[in-house]
Amino acid sequence: MKILSKSNLVPFLEGLGLEFKVNAPLYEGQDVLFGDLDSSKLATDFIGKPRLSPKEYSFPQRERLFTFKNNGGVEIEAHLNETKRVIWGIRPCDLYGLKFLDMVYLSDYVDPYYQARRSNTILLGLNCNKAEESCFCSSIGTGPFAREAFDLLFTDLGDVFLVEIGSKAGKKLIEKQANLFTNATSKDEKQAGILEEKSKKTFKTYIDLGKVEAKIAGASSSPVWAEEAAKCILCGGCNWVCPTCYCFNIEDVTSGDKTQRVRYWDSCQLGGFTQMAAMNSRATQAERLRQRIYHKFSYNPDKYGGEIGCTGCGRCIDVCPAGINIAYILRRVAN
Ligand code: SF4
Ligand code: SF4
Repeated sequence: MKILSKSNLVPFLEGLGLEFKVNAPLYEGQDVLFGDLDSSKLATDFIGKPRLSPKEYSFPQRERLFTFKNNGGVEIEAHLNETKRVIWGIRPCDLYGLKFLDMVYLSDYVDPYYQARRSNTILLGLNCNKAEESCFCSSIGTGPFAREAFDLLFTDLGDVFLVEIGSKAGKKLIEKQANLFTNATSKDEKQAGILEEKSKKTFKTYIDLGKVEAKIAGASSSPVWAEEAAKCILCGGCNWVCPTCYCFNIEDVTSGDKTQRVRYWDSCQLGGFTQMAAMNSRATQAERLRQRIYHKFSYNPDKYGGEIGCTGCGRCIDVCPAGINIAYILRRVAN
């Protein structure tokens, strides 16, 4: 464990900038959003999570995969993004979100576009000292303090950060700027433990995950799906802000003699998501809402050794214009 004084955070990040593209949470008006490092806007003491997760850096909203040209044979040019990147300030829920996407895109089938981005990205986490109203990571077990999936993990102790090393890549970053760090003491670690316990007491949103897991298989005909879906305006916002949603659509865009294959995020809440030529296998919004919850809390854990497809970040609660609340739905499922 190391200590970095707060006044040395910007020099540390700017030092990283000599070798890497550095992204961090920035104050943008009333919001906190990830962006390219800008020390005048750097957000270090925000409560809860940035409005959007850092998913965009490994799985962009819209990505050009390859270009092809038919000139007698087929000429293909792949567009792999291998930018060397460090992301600082990732909340524990979002670290889990990235770990989850790694399971999806780097296990059974390795997606080369995702792999190119992720294998060149170093993750620097930032523990949460206070939850927002919608946060429920403590119920899922992904926060408010991280245990895994980081290269370095920062804890705000007041004037200084306690820095935990999670990988060789993280250790190397510290070694390169060793003059900025001092060794942590057992008192610093104890203080972090006290802050974690305090942080856990700030949560206002809870679910009983054990009960959800036990009851979800029998909840497919619950009235909650139709009741909640009746409010939905099909905007897709809950999917767009979600750090674990990974569905996409593919389109070929032709210009002149070249065609680009592009993929972009899709939303299971939109009517056309499962539209086929003859029918739609999820024709009602109630079926689509049920699919979103079952995918995260039943199908994903079945496929990925118990790992839930939800981080408990609460962003879908914050963004939904219809007031549809995943924690409320899960409590109904659990009862
Ligand atoms: S489903 Fe909602 S609470 Fe869960 S990870 Fe996605 S946005 Fe966060
Ligand atoms: S954000 Fe709310 S209204 Fe929009 S699709 Fe999701 S559940 Fe429906």
